[in-house]
Amino acid sequence: MNKRAYNFNAGPAALPLEVLQRAQAEFVDYKETGMSIMEMSHRGAVYESVHHEAQSRLLNLFGSPSGYKVLFLQGGASTQFAMIPLNFLSEGKAAGYVRTGSWADKALKEAKLVGEAFVAASSESEGFRKVPDLRNLELPEQTAYVHLTSNETIEGTSFLNYPDTGSVPLIADMSSDILSRPFDLESFGMVYAGAQKNLGPSGVTVVIAREELLEQSPKHLPTILRYDTHYKNDSLYNTPPSFSIYMVNEVLKWIEEQGGLTGIEQLNRKKAGLLYEAIDQSEGFYNGFAQPDSRSLMNVTFRLGTEELEKKFVKESEAAGFVGLKGHRSVGGLRASIYNAVPYDAIAALVQFMEDFRNKNR
Ligand code: PMP
Repeated sequence: MNKRAYNFNAGPAALPLEVLQRAQAEFVDYKETGMSIMEMSHRGAVYESVHHEAQSRLLNLFGSPSGYKVLFLQGGASTQFAMIPLNFLSEGKAAGYVRTGSWADKALKEAKLVGEAFVAASSESEGFRKVPDLRNLELPEQTAYVHLTSNETIEGTSFLNYPDTGSVPLIADMSSDILSRPFDLESFGMVYAGAQKNLGPSGVTVVIAREELLEQSPKHLPTILRYDTHYKNDSLYNTPPSFSIYMVNEVLKWIEEQGGLTGIEQLNRKKAGLLYEAIDQSEGFYNGFAQPDSRSLMNVTFRLGTEELEKKFVKESEAAGFVGLKGHRSVGGLRASIYNAVPYDAIAALVQFMEDFRNKNR
């Protein structure tokens, strides 16, 4: 095999090499069935055991709190932006959205198409370089739910703590930081994530929610858009993305092998620490976009003195074998996405490249 790329893609993103190799070994003949997992019925016992194993592994990583259910859905996190208000935002109620940047705003926009939505907190005045303080969140009586984005993939910010919203369900888009560190699932009514960053390949969206939220959807809603359809049919109402779910199960095994969420967090803190230190000790050559108290462990965003220098950095980094460092066009600059599966060595190599680049260009 050729050397693996230094992959800093924002998503789809790096997967653990061990997972890819295991999938490769089972690709043509899954457990002596004479076929790939992709070729078998989703109603058969072999696939169903993978499906259920992935669900229970996932809950197990959160200590298997009672009353929660895992759904495997399609349409990406973007479909959740619509399904959440369609299912939970009834007439006479309003949904609170925390504005932290690009993805939070997309979620809010969808809610406004469906019903009444308000901004519960925002960090727009700080240019979305930090997350708002949610300690004294004031919610009107008729609040249907509060939605936040735990990690803004584009800006590179994330929350250190989550608010207590009492009896109002707290819902989080965790697409870019789920399983990067432990958190108390029981403070949330629902969390969801597209798989293609920390969970597996694209094609499946994971929803973990309190069963009481999933049991009933509004009468008039089309079948496929109803959480109760997927809840009652155990995410087998229609054909699930079976290969993606199989891959999620393999990634979950890999996370268990890293010491679960605590082990993964330690690794992630070490990786992000190395990169932020390189930025902070560059005497202003590299400038972190996110404020230190809101820095993401997953997406490290930074700028250089001029756009010209940034272009040069991207070009030279690509030539040196680093993939995906160009920042999103809405923020500019550079972004290194260092999800769970990006190895420490890739970050160490990047830090060395950054040092060399600085020495040549300052
Ligand atoms: N939310 C966040 C935080 C994201 O990073 C992304 C994708 N980058 C999305 C939502 C949209 O996900 P999808 O492409 O799966 O619809």
